[in-house]
Amino acid sequence: MLKKFLRCFSRLNQRAERLFFLLEQLRDERAEFILSRSLDRKARGEASPFVLLRCDVHAVGPKELICFGRELAKRSLPAAFLFLAPDHPANLGRLSPQEQLTAMRELEGMGHETGVHLDPHYLISGQECSLEDILREMLSVFSANGIKPVTGSIHGNSRYKGLDENGFGTAFDFFAELGRQPDFPKLSNVHPELAESIRRNRISLESLNFDTWIDQPLWTRKNGFMVTNYISDNGLAKSGTLSVTLQPDSMKHLKLADHQPPGALTCTAARELVPLKGGGMLEPPFTGTRNLDFFSAGLDGLVKVLPSVPLLFLLHPQHYVEGAP
Ligand SMILES: [Zn+2]
Repeated sequence: MLKKFLRCFSRLNQRAERLFFLLEQLRDERAEFILSRSLDRKARGEASPFVLLRCDVHAVGPKELICFGRELAKRSLPAAFLFLAPDHPANLGRLSPQEQLTAMRELEGMGHETGVHLDPHYLISGQECSLEDILREMLSVFSANGIKPVTGSIHGNSRYKGLDENGFGTAFDFFAELGRQPDFPKLSNVHPELAESIRRNRISLESLNFDTWIDQPLWTRKNGFMVTNYISDNGLAKSGTLSVTLQPDSMKHLKLADHQPPGALTCTAARELVPLKGGGMLEPPFTGTRNLDFFSAGLDGLVKVLPSVPLLFLLHPQHYVEGAP
């Protein structure tokens, strides 16, 4: 048993130790770690603080990925693991389609959720069929292998950004529920060729049986957009920092909204502010976005107060494995 543990941990790096320490601190300060299927419960009836852990899976080997998932599960830290289409180039040479399917099953078996990490511009580039056909095929392969992805997010592909005329990405506009351009189907701020592709390929998450989508902001079929505070490790390899966004409206409330403007992490107009029971940060150390050094005391201080707010925490497992940049 000890041998097995050591073998697993030897696949992870020093950052992993620090990450598990921070997450355990959050948990010990009484943060409730939830899965996406509990999001609606948090908006209605039982509105209280939570942490939703989301892991976007890129360029990581199957053994390291399983090890990372097991270390989270062992600490009672459930997460949503989101996967690219099985032959996406970001996983080439690291995670084969068959290894991906096996990993998804194993992670579900540990109590984690699985979901899709979609790259719509890449998926439809050079394809003769529609985005809906591609996704239905992807979901049927998962289902044939006993896997049920329940949620998803959009992959920010720097080669296929599909920017609008104001420089904002358009990947969300392929989805009826998430679309950010307010004038669909006209799409006057989008290049005509791209606008035509979005109109032709636009699909509905509901028709694909998704009840939630866990980008920032979160979305659920029942409650629309749910704005939370947000931590991302996107810049960890380059700058050694976590990006932390604290939103004034989401300190003592869960902010619900119907629309999200292009390019924003948040929604400007709230439909409703649902008061949080048993939480609410009285004095946030800052509002807006700051990059905090991953090993800094400032981050230690922050995790002591974060359990009192709703929080989406985005992780990329490849940052925490041996040989990571
Ligand atoms: Zn991604």
